[in-house]
Amino acid sequence: MTAIDVLIAGAGPTGLILACDLARRGIRCRVIDRAAGPQAGGRGFGLKPRTLEIMDDLGVADRIAAIALDHTPIRFHLGHTELFELRVPPAAPTPRRPYPNLLSLPQWRTESVLRDRLTELGGQVEFDCELVDFDQDANGVSATLRRGGAVETMRAAWLVGADGGRSTVRRRLGIAFRGRTEDDARALLADVTVHGLADPAAVHLWMGAEGLLVIRPGSDGRCQVVAALAPQDDDAPELDTLRHLVTARSGRADIELTDPTWISVWRYNLRMAERYRVGRVLLAGDAAHVHSPFGAYGMNTGIGDAYNLGWKLAHTVRGADPELLDTYWAERAPIARKILADSDRRFAAATPPPFIRPLVALALKPLLRRAQIRDRADYPAYRTGPLGVEDTARGRGPAVGDSAPDCPLPDGTTLFAHLRGTHFTALVCDAAAPAAEGLEVIEIPPSTALSAHRTFRPRSGSIILIRPDGHIGLITTDPDAVRTYLGRCGLSVAGDNDSQ
Ligand SMILES: Cc1cc2nc3c(=O)[nH]c(=O)nc-3n(C[C@H](O)[C@H](O)[C@H](O)COP(=O)(O)OP(=O)(O)OC[C@H]3O[C@@H](n4cnc5c(N)ncnc54)[C@H](O)[C@@H]3O)c2cc1C
Repeated sequence: MTAIDVLIAGAGPTGLILACDLARRGIRCRVIDRAAGPQAGGRGFGLKPRTLEIMDDLGVADRIAAIALDHTPIRFHLGHTELFELRVPPAAPTPRRPYPNLLSLPQWRTESVLRDRLTELGGQVEFDCELVDFDQDANGVSATLRRGGAVETMRAAWLVGADGGRSTVRRRLGIAFRGRTEDDARALLADVTVHGLADPAAVHLWMGAEGLLVIRPGSDGRCQVVAALAPQDDDAPELDTLRHLVTARSGRADIELTDPTWISVWRYNLRMAERYRVGRVLLAGDAAHVHSPFGAYGMNTGIGDAYNLGWKLAHTVRGADPELLDTYWAERAPIARKILADSDRRFAAATPPPFIRPLVALALKPLLRRAQIRDRADYPAYRTGPLGVEDTARGRGPAVGDSAPDCPLPDGTTLFAHLRGTHFTALVCDAAAPAAEGLEVIEIPPSTALSAHRTFRPRSGSIILIRPDGHIGLITTDPDAVRTYLGRCGLSVAGDNDSQ
């Protein structure tokens, strides 16, 4: 018998979100990481509103909001001259979107919050434990792990490679990672204490002939420094190299870097796996797609992958047809393709040829403002794929595939409070949903004055089925369509037309 349901290789944000989601569903899971302990790097700072909604469902949105920064101003310099300061006022929370802003938090702190949550849910990360090899058969995966010097073999029903851009899992599966690497696009990055900035609460950005320099405040009084390397620059990850680049790019000898906790070299890769699943093994996060950091997509997309996969994997473990897992690729691959294209466009815009940089810089303020506002509205939707059933009864509200917005409910609670957890939710407007274990039914009275009605604008007699990941799966007037949908997802549905 297989002792473990799911082995997760990699405890970055992707692996941690998946581990939390599976743990709260009672799925037996191991999450291993080859690093000796938690990673120290700031890396991904930007947490988008949809990610914060996912964090809300997992019970950590408040903790993140309490320690993150919001609406950080940007001070933009062309060469050694400051051109402008950009301040985009924060959007006010609304009943539909309680988390309307992009928050900024060093990735190591986000991971720390998620590890604490995993502990509360009964799980833990096994550090210093590397997946070195695996084989699969019809019933599961046999994995070889190396913990310290010792080798261990284990069985799991499923394996998820959340093991980053150089994924061992992807390589062992022989999945092509198509795209390109630009050897000349490199940057040195570090987490340090920065002295000498007049406005340490702002992001400082220098666009110079030799490349970009960014100093971004963390939420802990320290900063992330990113300096693009010119082709002739040495890429040894040394503090002195970074100090030299900061002085040269900013023209400021008085900016001092001390106390580095992490220093690394980044290279531009734009690649995507040609599939996300082979049998009982799946890929998620950077293991499945890598791109430029422009657009704040990487960690947010890995988190989105994990959240899409978690409930499907749990239902499959519990007996749903494994075809449910094919919808993971069908829904997430189009999102990754779009992100690769957009982040590449933004990378090109931020690194124009030196002779047109002054011109680009003039257009940059409105462009940056628009990008920030657009990033707030980045709510990926699943318009295609086998679970995107045509909505025969859509009113004028959100469509099938959209993530459901929040709204106040007649009982004084909010929809998000009801969505928290592992179940499906049916919003019924003058209709009856079939009874099913794992389905909560909420009535939306037909009064058009009510907030829920104004948000979803359902047709009378319709049922809006919301999946466990908060996306609308179906809008229909036919209870049998709901039965079929839930059956495909592995729920056992009562055969009669009982209303709730
Ligand atoms: C400068 C910079 C800025 C960025 N800014 C943003 C941003 O603002 N917003 C955003 O969303 N993203 C951003 N990103 C991207 C983000 O950091 C990554 O997309 C994110 O870390 C991906 O998470 P992951 O969990 O998929 O992979 P990783 O974070 O790479 O985690 C993979 C884990 O797997 C472990 N591992 C590897 N191989 C094995 C193995 N064989 N066995 C066991 N464990 C293994 C590793 O030790 C690691 O802990 C930025 C990145 C950089 C470099």
